[in-house]
Amino acid sequence: MKAFTYHSPTSEQAAVKLLGAGAVPLAGGSSLLNLLKERVLEPERVVNLKAIAGLARIEPAGEGLRIGANVTLATLLESAEVRRAYPALVQAAETVGTPQIRNVATVGGNLCAPPACWYYVHEGFPCPRKGAAQACPAKAGENEYHAIFATDGPCVAVHASSLAPALVALGARVRIAGPGGARELEIEKFFRLPKAGEHRENVLAADEIVTHVALGPARPRSATYVVLHKESHDWPVGLASVSLEMEGDAVRAARVCLGAVAPVPWRAAGAEAALAGKKVTAEVAAQAAEAAVAGAAPLAQNAYKVGIARAAVRRAILLAATGKWM
Ligand SMILES: Cc1cc2nc3c(=O)[nH]c(=O)nc-3n(C[C@H](O)[C@H](O)[C@H](O)COP(=O)(O)OP(=O)(O)OC[C@H]3O[C@@H](n4cnc5c(N)ncnc54)[C@H](O)[C@@H]3O)c2cc1C
Ligand code: SF4
Repeated sequence: MKAFTYHSPTSEQAAVKLLGAGAVPLAGGSSLLNLLKERVLEPERVVNLKAIAGLARIEPAGEGLRIGANVTLATLLESAEVRRAYPALVQAAETVGTPQIRNVATVGGNLCAPPACWYYVHEGFPCPRKGAAQACPAKAGENEYHAIFATDGPCVAVHASSLAPALVALGARVRIAGPGGARELEIEKFFRLPKAGEHRENVLAADEIVTHVALGPARPRSATYVVLHKESHDWPVGLASVSLEMEGDAVRAARVCLGAVAPVPWRAAGAEAALAGKKVTAEVAAQAAEAAVAGAAPLAQNAYKVGIARAAVRRAILLAATGKWM
């Protein structure tokens, strides 16, 4: 690990002033510390965000909730309001890592977590995301856990956040603080496909931080289905989050988002269209799941993930519609 100076500001604006070129924000550290130890990142300044007042609260806001970036996943899971209103978020959060990780991992850190790629986290593998001139080693190498969508770009790592697909399905908004003040945007506009030479796959500038995630009215007809390689201590090999707005028996509007399949959370417009106006049956869920994986372009070792994504979408739809595990 390269030596750095450590800062612990107590306000958003003080944090933002310390950030910028040569600095990284630190939240729970469950992802970042590994990158520092492996010298994937070698910042001059590490800026702890956990001392900023007010960012570790879950509060009512309008008809929904405002979740501070420093809220840990354990706190999120303990919230009766979150559990009542947003099952998709709870089902996503409860599969993250282990209880120890959920005790330190924050919502903000989860949204900004580094790419889930074993080449990326190892100092011995230069790659486009780390600014190296050579081609992505995962493309011709060990890619069984990599992307099945958007595989023609410079990076085929999957987006690491289990919460992000749920927040996209729930129509969340993200508040960002920067030197010019705060801005808020739909969570989908927060993510963008990664470019060579960039560690991030989001729109944050180097001197901006996520401060809150805002959720609208309760979405009890929502669900996340996560497929893990093993029960604990692991990232998903596929997950799907679904939120249904019903009119009587029929779906008025659906939002479907896949995780662990692309470098960003992957919204499935085809699946949403296949659900609109329909009563949810096993057949309709299967049709929507098929639409969700249309256009998948798997790599040499990960075609199996297409079937996993399809099954996750189908099961998440049925779970959202019925509240029962299928
Ligand atoms: C064994 C193991 C299993 C895991 N399994 C999963 C899993 O199943 N699903 C999953 O989603 N994650 C998983 N993780 C990854 C990680 O624990 C989570 O993503 C966690 O939520 C990161 O949060 P943190 O607060 O620890 O972030 P940190 O490690 O502190 O930071 C992560 C990144 O976000 C940046 N950052 C942090 N907060 C902010 C902010 N407010 N604004 C801007 N940038 C910020 C940091 O600079 C850093 O780049 C796993 C990790 C381990 C070690
Ligand atoms: S998939 Fe992305 S992060 Fe992984 S080695 Fe390739 S360019 Fe780097």
